[in-house]
Amino acid sequence: MFSNSSPSLRWLVTGAAGFIGGHLVAELRASGCQVMAVDRRPSPGVERLDLADPADLPRLAELCRRADAVVHLAGRPGVRERGPQARAARRRDNVLATARLLEVVPKAVPVVVASSSSVYGSCVGPSREGDPLRPLGDYGRSKLEAEMLCVACREAGWAVTVVRPFTVVGERQRPDMALARWIEAARTGRPIRVFGSLERRRDLTDVRDVVLGIRRVIETGFVGTVNLGSGRPIRLGEMVETVMEVVGSRPPVVVEPGSAVEADLTWADTSLCEAELGFVPSLDLPSVVRRQAEACRPVAVSS
Ligand code: NAD
Repeated sequence: MFSNSSPSLRWLVTGAAGFIGGHLVAELRASGCQVMAVDRRPSPGVERLDLADPADLPRLAELCRRADAVVHLAGRPGVRERGPQARAARRRDNVLATARLLEVVPKAVPVVVASSSSVYGSCVGPSREGDPLRPLGDYGRSKLEAEMLCVACREAGWAVTVVRPFTVVGERQRPDMALARWIEAARTGRPIRVFGSLERRRDLTDVRDVVLGIRRVIETGFVGTVNLGSGRPIRLGEMVETVMEVVGSRPPVVVEPGSAVEADLTWADTSLCEAELGFVPSLDLPSVVRRQAEACRPVAVSS
């Protein structure tokens, strides 16, 4: 089994211009690893490449051949977008892009693919990796389709590991995500919009632990499917309260109808992560909200 913690590993990271990808690439480069970073979006230090574009396939294959480890984070996240265009974009960027990557990656190279806690759907207790998967919406279904491609590859002998991150939080979080929206609202005095109910609960994962989890998969040689979550769901009401305390402002809170594609509760069972990757993600909500708020660009003030 592949096992390596050497800083001289050469990593290929897709989705490198994104939230999680940006953190992973920065951390790997800071620890002396060589990183080939690719994304469709332009970003400094990142090669432009569209995984779903057949014209880019030869270059992708070349990068895969040169890599000691591949981390596939490119994708179209976000559960709320609806309609045929959103569906087509998810098929392209979540399913087709994963298929293309798996087509060209050599058998000897370990691959980590980001799926999502959304594949579980509703739960009443901690979700374990072997549980039945019943995604509630199209995003979760697209991630499940991508997982099935990974499983097929694994059964054919490739070292493909699926990680299922639970709502990832931290600096430079995507602006469409709840904490980022709420911090921005609190800073600008606009209402904090909450979907569904303040009683909904989310298992949150510090982006630093997602990076650690991905690194541990490669270092330990683990091959399989593993949750990356803290195992401690937090009420949306507590998250809102923490944002207000950290930012120091109390705008109105507006609860809007929730969408059927969002679970009332997400909750990671962390035992496999602990047993195989040697740690359990931990979450200090006030400090992660503080980090996230401090990293936000100051709001432009018009005179
Ligand atoms: P992000 O949108 O910030 O980053 C994704 C990146 O992938 C973007 O920079 C985008 O340009 C790139 N991309 C999309 N399609 C591409 C293509 N065809 N070719 C090349 N690049 C492409 O998202 P993120 O929050 O960093 O999430 C990264 C991955 O983790 C995604 O697969 C997402 O579904 C998964 N995930 C994220 C979370 C979370 O809470 N952020 C939770 C669970 C799973």
